Amino acid sequence: MKYCSNCGNRVARKTPDGDSMHRWVCGTCHMVHYENPKVVVGCVAESDGKILLCKRSIEPRYGYWTVPAGFMEIGETVAEGAARETMEEACAEVELGHLFACVDVIAAAQVHLFFTGKLVGGFAAGHESLDARLFEKDKIPWDQIAFRSGLFALEKYLEDNGEDNGVHLHEVRRGKE
Ligand code: ZN
Repeated sequence: MKYCSNCGNRVARKTPDGDSMHRWVCGTCHMVHYENPKVVVGCVAESDGKILLCKRSIEPRYGYWTVPAGFMEIGETVAEGAARETMEEACAEVELGHLFACVDVIAAAQVHLFFTGKLVGGFAAGHESLDARLFEKDKIPWDQIAFRSGLFALEKYLEDNGEDNGVHLHEVRRGKE
């Protein structure tokens, strides 16, 4: 961050009075620009005992497989976001189940939330996907999964066998995702 979104003047790193962390602070209007984690929502969708994965057509991790997931939008719930991302990336309508995984991706300042889901109808590659496919549970391409959070979600989903065993927590402190 270089310039203040309030007045357009330069910002600098400093610790505001009464605060304990470095922030971007405007030298002119003194506005403090707080930076907080973003929420990523996704869905492990099942159909006839198979898991829906998408092959990414965008960076990062172009060509790797992922569970449908993406940034939550303002104005939607986490569940609505997970269903929307599944529609966007896999053109698939899902009946969402329960929240079962929460991954703190400290290094990327993100929180990733994953729901279970059942495919309602068909699916196809969305605009951010090269391909969308249903994988048998013993044929998941484990070495080609795009992100560690998605990997964790898939592992826990299979451990739970899709049943509600509460929310599994995980954290990623280093690396990009
Ligand atoms: Zn300013």
